[in-house]
Amino acid sequence: SKATLFDKGTRVNITFNDVAGLDEAKVEVMEIVDFLKNPKKYTALGGKIPKGALLVGPPGTGKTLLAKAMAGEAQVPFFSMSGSDFVELFVGVGASRVRDLFKQAREKAPCIIFIDEIDAIGRARGKNVMMSNDERENTLNQLLVEMDGFGTDSGIIILAATNRPDVLDTALLRPGRFDRQISIDKPDLAGREQIFHVHLKPIKTSPNLDIKKLASMTPGFAGADIANVCNEAALIAARKGKTEVEMDDFNDAVDRVIGGLEKKNKIISPEE
Ligand code: ATP
Repeated sequence: SKATLFDKGTRVNITFNDVAGLDEAKVEVMEIVDFLKNPKKYTALGGKIPKGALLVGPPGTGKTLLAKAMAGEAQVPFFSMSGSDFVELFVGVGASRVRDLFKQAREKAPCIIFIDEIDAIGRARGKNVMMSNDERENTLNQLLVEMDGFGTDSGIIILAATNRPDVLDTALLRPGRFDRQISIDKPDLAGREQIFHVHLKPIKTSPNLDIKKLASMTPGFAGADIANVCNEAALIAARKGKTEVEMDDFNDAVDRVIGGLEKKNKIISPEE
């Protein structure tokens, strides 16, 4: 899902407990959390703390969630912007929006800036259909200027998410910019089971619900799809006047979510 349009230094109380699976990614981001918490520990020997990391993976796999959890774990403010909002909503003012965002972030450092769908502004020349190249380039250049403009000891970490690292302008990937990549993959069977556990917590389920079976019924589902299944199942059961959600409600919910995913795939953008 999209990051809220401009989280301006929000405090988040999401933690790594809210993020199921993604064990390898969590190990990598924990290091970044520690950079924010104990910067001096890392700079003591002359090392430079990275400024940014790229979270790479398909939609709905928890990139935004993980970025927020990092802010929650480090107990620092969370700023966010979405690349696609820049393309769709801020035509003509992209560069100044980027400048504003970084200005606010500098005032609240240490903090995290999260840029969702960075490919929308960070695409290599000539690959963007929505925004004129000049406009996109101005916005991208401003982002590069801002990233280069603060020292590694500024306490600002910039995270960006994309499912298309292949289309990114290589300027973004140079050392001192997004020089780390963390891959966030779709969950495997065990991962899906863990995600079901997280999203079943608020749901009144029947005691004989088979969570392993739910995980095996949902190959290819991202975390967002699983969250969706749990919610749909609760609504389906409620509509039937039940007092708890049963396996057959989950079966119906899975069918419904698969139907939704199929529709979405039909209207996928032409260049994909
Ligand atoms: P997009 O690329 O579409 O922005 P994303 O990778 O940023 O997607 P999120 O917005 O983080 O995905 O995920 C959407 C929702 O799906 C989360 O708010 C959460 O409810 C659920 N979700 C996704 N992955 C996980 C996970 N690993 N553990 C628990 N919940 C998850």
